[in-house]
Amino acid sequence: MKKTRIKVSKKRITFMLLPHGGRRSYQITLSYSFIFALFLIWSALTGVGLYYMSQRIENAQLKDANKKLKQKITHFSKKLENALDLVRETQDLNIRLKGLLALQSKKKVIEYSAMGGPSELKDFKISELLKPEFDNSEELFDANFRELLTSAWQTKTSFKEISEYLNYKRNLARYTPAIWPVYGRITSGFGLRINPVTHRPEFHHAFDIANLKGTPIRATADGKVIFAGWGGKLGKTVVIAHNLGYTTYYGHCDEVFVKPGEKVIRGQIIASVGMTGRTTGPHVHYEIHRYGKPLNPKFFMSGGF
Ligand SMILES: [Zn+2]
Repeated sequence: MKKTRIKVSKKRITFMLLPHGGRRSYQITLSYSFIFALFLIWSALTGVGLYYMSQRIENAQLKDANKKLKQKITHFSKKLENALDLVRETQDLNIRLKGLLALQSKKKVIEYSAMGGPSELKDFKISELLKPEFDNSEELFDANFRELLTSAWQTKTSFKEISEYLNYKRNLARYTPAIWPVYGRITSGFGLRINPVTHRPEFHHAFDIANLKGTPIRATADGKVIFAGWGGKLGKTVVIAHNLGYTTYYGHCDEVFVKPGEKVIRGQIIASVGMTGRTTGPHVHYEIHRYGKPLNPKFFMSGGF
């Protein structure tokens, strides 16, 4: 076992090492100023060590926060890209739908020009903005958002237009005469003929469809009854006004089941076949007018009841 004795002098301190077993002793004498200098060096080294350690911890925390932030930005940018893709797909769908509708109508009903997607940014990926070389990423983000909002607004306007067009087509279908008022034999068509009663030539603006007395007569499109009563030579007559300028006439009825002002739908029974007025047999005299001009009913009788 070794023992250490410390001798203190006024300005110096001596450390003695006394080994057991009569071996030679060692001693080292140090000045206070030297010890103080050692203490200062030790303190400085410890301080620097602690500072670097804290820096390393701070760096690690910053790195971790940075990583999480980057993950979040990547996540949000992916979501935004998905939203943009969806808007672009909706636009494509919109354009295809319009093309389809225009084809079906065989008319240039839709004149809306095909809208492009986000123009110069069409193939732009927002995730590209995360790359450090993008200095103007904020401007590009703003531009993308503007494109997104503009595209969404255009698409909404376009869909509204399609909806209005479809509504117009539906109305056109509902208010255009499209069925036979009565199934039967056509005894007189649209055009010049010899009147079977007067035996004089005349222009017949109607179809005469013969059937048994009492056979139901149906409205050929949705509309409103504007006349139901005695119509002179046509006998008991029903007149229905439809939208889009159409008016239909049903003459020589036996019985009339509707009143003026009543709304009717296509296929609804409005009267029965008779031979009132000037006629040689039971039939319905069926006329179609559009804006007052008589039209040939054969073009409006493709549908069934
Ligand atoms: Zn007739």
